Amino acid sequence: MSLKQRTSMHLLNADLHCHSSVSDGTLTPEALAERAKRNGVELWALTDHDEVGGQHRARAAAQAQGLAYLTGSEISVTFAGKTVHIVGLGFDPDHPSLQQGLVDTRGGRERRARDMAEGLAKVGIPNAFEGALRYVGNPDLISRTHFARYLVEIGVCSESHEVFKRYLTEGKPGYVEHRWATLSDAIHWITEAGGEAVIAHPGRYGFTPNEEYALFTEFKAHGGRGVEVVTGSHTVPEYAKYADMAIEFDLLASRGSDFHDPAESHTDLGTLPDLPGRLTPVWQALEHRIFRP
Ligand code: AMP
Ligand code: MN
Ligand code: MN
Ligand code: MN
Repeated sequence: MSLKQRTSMHLLNADLHCHSSVSDGTLTPEALAERAKRNGVELWALTDHDEVGGQHRARAAAQAQGLAYLTGSEISVTFAGKTVHIVGLGFDPDHPSLQQGLVDTRGGRERRARDMAEGLAKVGIPNAFEGALRYVGNPDLISRTHFARYLVEIGVCSESHEVFKRYLTEGKPGYVEHRWATLSDAIHWITEAGGEAVIAHPGRYGFTPNEEYALFTEFKAHGGRGVEVVTGSHTVPEYAKYADMAIEFDLLASRGSDFHDPAESHTDLGTLPDLPGRLTPVWQALEHRIFRP
């Protein structure tokens, strides 16, 4: 069956969420394309945080692997006082308002990282900024993940989830409040560049039912079209919960591992279960934006 026919089906092995060394992943776009292909992915998107700097490489690498490709990015947004991630898919990565929006969103990261390091120094962990920087592939994109890797390296914790729990989440010494993009700006940057906006891993935010309802309602009102249902960040009951919400809110469904690193990530590229058959996959609406090998 041709890819064109298979994209109209929910059974396509699509992996539309992962990170390279252009943000907080450890593999290059080329190594990810190779790994995706090896794992049986049929449609791939690289979705670095607040960045499109890896998009041309990812597309070329996908082409070289004979892998269909959609452009992508995962944009950090502040909504109801919490950080929410919006994945954009199928946009033109060179679109000026998207590019400027991402430059502005990334802009505060260095200051934030210095403040995080100050908080860590106060609890006896000096030089964490310099330490984290050694793990950074893109100096514009220092993230909490890079701090986590450094704290594991120096033996403060044995793995990165523990670092987040003890040091890098709300109320902990290395946590710094930060204002990211607005929900409406992020959706507009994506859609003006010809793509579709998708709510990333809604099960991760810890919203009350009312807050979650507000997120979905406002997301739709600003032109958002999709939601991640099957993701490496969801439990099996959450697949069912967000499949129901996709139907309730008439949203397209997405699927992605959120792969960052072979040792750290518990879900590898292309290894998630299929989307439930009652959902409409987001790649159906993005058919015309797919780069075919
Ligand atoms: P930042 O954009 O700097 O706030 O970093 C967010 C990134 O940290 C996410 O994209 C994940 O890769 C990672 N992350 C967040 N929470 C956790 C956690 N509990 N355990 C491991 N990694 C996490
Ligand atoms: Mn990440
Ligand atoms: Mn995320
Ligand atoms: Mn992600």
